[in-house]
Amino acid sequence: MLTTADAIVIGAGIVGNATAYYLAKKGLSVIVLEASEYIGNGGSSRNGGGVRQSGRDPKELPLMVWGVKNIWPHLSEELGVDTEYKQKGNLRLGKTPAHMEKLKTLADNAIKCGVDVQMLTAEEVKKINPYLSDAVIGASWCPTDGHANPLTTTLGYYKAARALGADFVTGCPVKKIITEKGKVCGVETPEQKFYAPSVVVAAGFESNEILGTVGINIPMRKRVLQCLVTEAEPQMFEQMLGTAAADFYGHQTKHGSFVFGGHDGFEDDPVVINNDYPFSTGDFASCCSRGIMGYFPLLSNAKIVRTWSGYEDHSSDVVATVSKCDEVPGLYIECGFSGHGFGIGPAAAYNIAELIATGSCPADISPLRYDRFKSVI
Ligand SMILES: Cc1cc2nc3c(=O)[nH]c(=O)nc-3n(C[C@H](O)[C@H](O)[C@H](O)COP(=O)(O)OP(=O)(O)OC[C@H]3O[C@@H](n4cnc5c(N)ncnc54)[C@H](O)[C@@H]3O)c2cc1C
Repeated sequence: MLTTADAIVIGAGIVGNATAYYLAKKGLSVIVLEASEYIGNGGSSRNGGGVRQSGRDPKELPLMVWGVKNIWPHLSEELGVDTEYKQKGNLRLGKTPAHMEKLKTLADNAIKCGVDVQMLTAEEVKKINPYLSDAVIGASWCPTDGHANPLTTTLGYYKAARALGADFVTGCPVKKIITEKGKVCGVETPEQKFYAPSVVVAAGFESNEILGTVGINIPMRKRVLQCLVTEAEPQMFEQMLGTAAADFYGHQTKHGSFVFGGHDGFEDDPVVINNDYPFSTGDFASCCSRGIMGYFPLLSNAKIVRTWSGYEDHSSDVVATVSKCDEVPGLYIECGFSGHGFGIGPAAAYNIAELIATGSCPADISPLRYDRFKSVI
């Protein structure tokens, strides 16, 4: 097992795997340290597969737009796996004038950042998706959004990183970042130390505990998100869907099943219990199904095969941190993806790898700096 490399990546989710891949592609030696026994066992293999620009905070848009143009269209070919990426647009549906107002504000923000988002009437929405209920009075439409398969994409990055020589160690939780004269020189785990001049923290919510060992704090909390999958149905539509009411989102997969995410209807987030292992709450499937049937009555008889859940690293401004750390040279941060890190993860990883390898990166990640958070008191 290697204990010294050019770079250490902490966490083997989509972000850590992709960062390792792009670093190895640049010719750097990489060690990836993963706390659990499995690769991609965090949110990265449990998510709804949305790859969207629309509905994002303007701070994330330059990076996301860059990723949709430069990474996603060629990713299957690059990794040699079928990521099932489909760029067939995102419809965000509204049922009330208040919904439409909310959608218009989001659309205006995206348009200002150069994203093609249009507001559609009920008639125009029906032309794109004829299965929708008459309760839908309009939608925002982003034709360059899409969806992909989280499992094949995350594991595709893992396999491709390994093929380029990246070393992965599972069951290896990082407890501490080690510095020498203020600069990063490695990390400590319960068993041993690993050394590298660059360390990337991509450990989801747990990133904060690790960053805390060098005095850095990204304000975020841990939330549970849930999904369901139906039996395969005849192919109906290819768009990614969301709603202004946030009562469900999802898409139909290549296999024909529908993967939908949503809410369990309770005001508070589901509680994190069960020995910290995420579990699906009893009310989720029925509540999410009520949401879905309000838009797609035709799906009333679709059978749910299973539900699952995963954790979200929900940052205080609901925006990711993708940044180098000035106070601790050699330290790079990719966390706080706030429930929408699958779509933007590959772009974040590419840009951080470029920053480490060359000192600069192609996308504007300055709005995602770690020191943007201000204390209000
Ligand atoms: C149900 C659900 C639906 C979602 N839907 C979407 C969607 O449609 N579109 C979208 O873009 N995003 C979605 N997301 C969010 C998306 O999944 C995440 O933002 C993304 O996967 C984050 O990737 P990550 O690599 O940062 O984190 P993770 O996948 O959580 O990986 C972090 C890894 O770090 C490891 N780790 C933790 N502590 C340590 C340590 N001390 N040492 C070493 N390793 C450690 C963990 O074990 C884990 O493997 C959804 C999430 C969930 C849960």
